[in-house]
Amino acid sequence: MSTSATSGVELPDRELLRKFDVPAPRYTSYPTADRFKNDFKPEDYEQALQARGASKKPAGLSLYCHIPFCSDVCFYCGCNKVVTRDHERSAEYMKVLLEEADLVKSKLTGSGELEQLHWGGGTPTFLTNDEILFLMSELRARFPFAPGSEISIEVDPRTCPEDKVKALRESGFNRMSIGVQDFNPDVQKAVNRIQPFEMTRDLMSQARDNGFHSINMDLIYGLPKQTRESFAQTIDRVIELSPDRIALYHYAHLPNHFKPQRRILPADLPGTEEKVHIMFDYRGKSAHHVRLDPAPHRKRLPVHRHGSLCQGNR
Ligand code: SF4
Repeated sequence: MSTSATSGVELPDRELLRKFDVPAPRYTSYPTADRFKNDFKPEDYEQALQARGASKKPAGLSLYCHIPFCSDVCFYCGCNKVVTRDHERSAEYMKVLLEEADLVKSKLTGSGELEQLHWGGGTPTFLTNDEILFLMSELRARFPFAPGSEISIEVDPRTCPEDKVKALRESGFNRMSIGVQDFNPDVQKAVNRIQPFEMTRDLMSQARDNGFHSINMDLIYGLPKQTRESFAQTIDRVIELSPDRIALYHYAHLPNHFKPQRRILPADLPGTEEKVHIMFDYRGKSAHHVRLDPAPHRKRLPVHRHGSLCQGNR
């Protein structure tokens, strides 16, 4: 038996929905975290770095930097983070990060030019403007950017005033991924992430004015207090802002694994069918706003496909 959405989309059979209504690993990395094995030792990593230069056609170099600090905690969070307002901790962390970069550089063979650099978190924009400029210049000294490289950062609008947008651009970032999740005030309150629509709107226009050529927006479905109607309104507001890409993640409620999630009341979570409706509505609306990545030399997934492939709880 299938169940029909009012949008006219046939939803999968209820039994099938129940069968697959289980938490799954976040699809933010490949392979996903549950595929990682403990038998991959530091020596294996070292060997891989040393073997790279021997390859006839070494793969392009991509670097990920994790900045784990956040000033406040979002209750849905399942990320590797440190909640603090103490900037001494980030200063210490940057030193260790650069030691790690030195270590990698000392083992790496082949070209050290970066094709892609990404800062994720946590909240990379927790860093001050000076810290951002310093860390980036140190990284560039070790790993120069290749021509046309993609330099991206995850941005929390609550910690990114216009002077920081300028500092990011000045340090070399050209792509931005903005954490939004949901624009509905009740949902934002339930997850302890108060972020007015205007704040995101202003950040996007500042990013465009300062020359960011690709802006992604992260959304989450399955959050407490979320309904099909409320999320449809969020999508309308997202479309109004016209990001280049959207990543739609699924919220996995795993309070035994992630302590902040214990502050979320299970009774506030949307049910399976409501979530599937939310996702199908999203696909219906966003399908008319599909954009390919503007970088002509790279193939990218269209917005709706990217969203449907992602599963996580950023
Ligand atoms: S969701 Fe992001 S900003 Fe919120 S606590 Fe987790 S890492 Fe920090």
